[in-house]
Amino acid sequence: LIEDSCTEEIWLQGRAVVPGVAIGSLFFLPELSLPFREDPSESPICVTQEIRRFTQAVAESQAELRFLFEKLKKEGFCQEADIVDMHLQMTVDPSLCEEVEHTIFRKEQRAENGVAEVMEKLRLRFEKIPDATIRQRFEDVESVCLRILSFLTSPSKEALRIPSLAILFAKTVTPTVVAEMSVNGIGAIVTTHGGAMSHTAIVAKARGIPYVTDIQCGNFRDSFSGASVVVDGLAGLVIVCPTNETMRRYKALKESHDAYFRGNVEKPVKGGLSKDGCRISLMANVSGVNDVRQLSAFGLDGVGLYRTEYQVLERRRFPTEREQTDAYSEMVKAADNKPVVIRVFDFGSDKGWEEVSSAFPTLAQGQRTIDLLLQNPDLFLAHLRAIIRSSVYGRLSIMFPMITSIEELERCLDMVGVARGMVQKEHPIKRIRVGAMVEIPSLAFRTESLGGKIDFISIGTNDLIQYSLAVDRSNGASFDARLSYHPGLLRLLGFIVQESGKVKIPVCLCGEMASDPLLIPFLVGLGIKELSIAPRLSPMVKHVLQSFSIQEMEHIANSVLSFTSAQEAYAFLRAQYCTLHSD
Ligand code: PEP
Ligand code: MG
Repeated sequence: LIEDSCTEEIWLQGRAVVPGVAIGSLFFLPELSLPFREDPSESPICVTQEIRRFTQAVAESQAELRFLFEKLKKEGFCQEADIVDMHLQMTVDPSLCEEVEHTIFRKEQRAENGVAEVMEKLRLRFEKIPDATIRQRFEDVESVCLRILSFLTSPSKEALRIPSLAILFAKTVTPTVVAEMSVNGIGAIVTTHGGAMSHTAIVAKARGIPYVTDIQCGNFRDSFSGASVVVDGLAGLVIVCPTNETMRRYKALKESHDAYFRGNVEKPVKGGLSKDGCRISLMANVSGVNDVRQLSAFGLDGVGLYRTEYQVLERRRFPTEREQTDAYSEMVKAADNKPVVIRVFDFGSDKGWEEVSSAFPTLAQGQRTIDLLLQNPDLFLAHLRAIIRSSVYGRLSIMFPMITSIEELERCLDMVGVARGMVQKEHPIKRIRVGAMVEIPSLAFRTESLGGKIDFISIGTNDLIQYSLAVDRSNGASFDARLSYHPGLLRLLGFIVQESGKVKIPVCLCGEMASDPLLIPFLVGLGIKELSIAPRLSPMVKHVLQSFSIQEMEHIANSVLSFTSAQEAYAFLRAQYCTLHSD
């Protein structure tokens, strides 16, 4: 059947979410068909028994989630473990369970249909939420409901047997499914719906699983099950039944990637090196201490961005000054004398808005956290004191996000001075480096004026794209990865690097652009000597760096700056990248 259907290769163009190449056989993730039909020959529904069945399925789901949580934590996959923990909390939260029980009771229906009905109701509720990131969180609700349903429909639930390195096709994939399956190894994920900022994307990225979304795959569902597939997670391309020639090309590309990754994981090269031996500092973007413990394993030079807001996200409240002091000190100690950049709280619609707005009910939607901190000096000073105290354990820098003006930065620096004076009374404190994120155009255009005021800048391209191109970074539909190639944005980056060079401020780039394999030669060619990335992407970034000399990267940067469209820049950079892998 497969041979019949595969007389020609089929190209499906979707949206790239996680880069990488995978080759494997197509596997459709089974879908539950809801609602379950009542069998008239069966005895009438006993509501109490159905509620008991539901409670049992919830308990089994909790046991499974707890097991998964421990496993992920032990393996050092902390971000995934946190997501699993969040799902566990959702099963403990009485509101979901009560709603299902109430529905079963009211409609005298089977437990399966009670869960399905509540899930559907919640789907409709989420669809109405204007904020895309919160809307994408429906996948978490769905994940929990599907897990409960799977225990209800097959009580002796056998683990879904997915062939190793299968290319998973599905309408949507929940984050815990990815976390669970990637323990055994899946090749790639291809979905009809999915958001670049969703938890599924975060997990896939952390695990290095190529992910392409917006693929219409329903119409060849059964006939192509088991067919060969190539996934090009960079181009957002899925090729079903590839020809021998396509297969040969992609195998070569994949082999060179894999060989490099293997070599690097076994014996990590320290930091990044260009082909001609120039050092590019590679730092890690981290959200917790376990990420810091992996610095050596990934051959990274330090922490370029610690997102402290995760301290609030994990607790679902603001941590006390003591809790913060402990957390930051543990972080700096774990870095083992490698530099650590701690960024002060930076909440956004994609992270922690709920927690902050419940603590600060007057907070306006979209208000920057730095503004909130400056308006609440007690909160800000406690936060800074905790950070400053941790400096005694290593090489610490403080960084301010979302700064819009020099005056605002000066107010932040004054606060550091005050906090430092307070801590100084406890014990002597050595000098602490201070930096600012350049991620809002109004500050980008004042880069030169930062000279003499701070020790470094870090370019936050995630927000710089949002605020210079007027797109919502958390909206999957409007936030296309190709925006990173916009000529206006690329020139703005060139301008920031040039201006900072004039006043001798070192520049790091810590947005997602730093790990886009096509853009790395451009960024280094501009003169950026430090990149801060998700630790797991370090082998790939080092591989790209080692493939070009500084002079080649400078040529690439100069050519790219002359282009007038994103398409032109993308095509050129992709061609440079592909020459690395042509034989
Ligand atoms: C950025 O904006 O590029 C950045 C690194 O910070 P965050 O993603 O945490 O806003
Ligand atoms: Mg930012």
